Amino acid sequence: MTETPTEVRGDSGPLTAQLVASRVLDVPDFPKPGIVFKDLMPLFADGAAFRAVVDEIVDHHGRDSFDVVVGIEARGFVVAAAIAYAAGVGVVPVRKAGKLPRAAYAASYALEYGEATLEVHQDAFTAGHRVLVVDDVLATGGTAKATLELVERAGGTVAGFTVLLELGFLKGRERLAPQPVHALLTV
Ligand code: AMP
Repeated sequence: MTETPTEVRGDSGPLTAQLVASRVLDVPDFPKPGIVFKDLMPLFADGAAFRAVVDEIVDHHGRDSFDVVVGIEARGFVVAAAIAYAAGVGVVPVRKAGKLPRAAYAASYALEYGEATLEVHQDAFTAGHRVLVVDDVLATGGTAKATLELVERAGGTVAGFTVLLELGFLKGRERLAPQPVHALLTV
């Protein structure tokens, strides 16, 4: 019997999904037992692959469909800054509690154990600015949901949401509905 290649899928097609899949490392039991950490550092470190992924995200949404890019701390910053540069727009960080120096809006959400809080500067967006939100991994969707709320509270309009990798079995996409999710790779 011939072996069927492992099926890879994502919202930008199998080639992009394969590109991401080939440059992600599974790290079992990090940061705690039972979690398989999806390490995308090999993708970030590969110039050609990183550029292809960034260009695909810009093309998917359309260069003129967003005015600013939001990156979620910390790995989202890497992707957001590259997309912003490629599209010729600015970048706004959404940070963990207590890191921003000026007046900020905060949104808290439940983690498996305890709670997390994200913040954005109150003056981060010009009213009505269209905001593309990006992160590395979508798991339960709590982080993304809090971020999308923060963007709207700070006067932005969410124009799109992209992740490099989605853990489909955690149903983050359903939690974020009706916000569409663009995931380059879904596992
Ligand atoms: P969640 O709020 O559950 O969707 O978790 C998403 C956030 O946690 C993202 O900012 C990810 O960087 C990080 N994250 C959650 N699970 C993983 C994982 N298995 N591998 C890598 N990062 C993860």
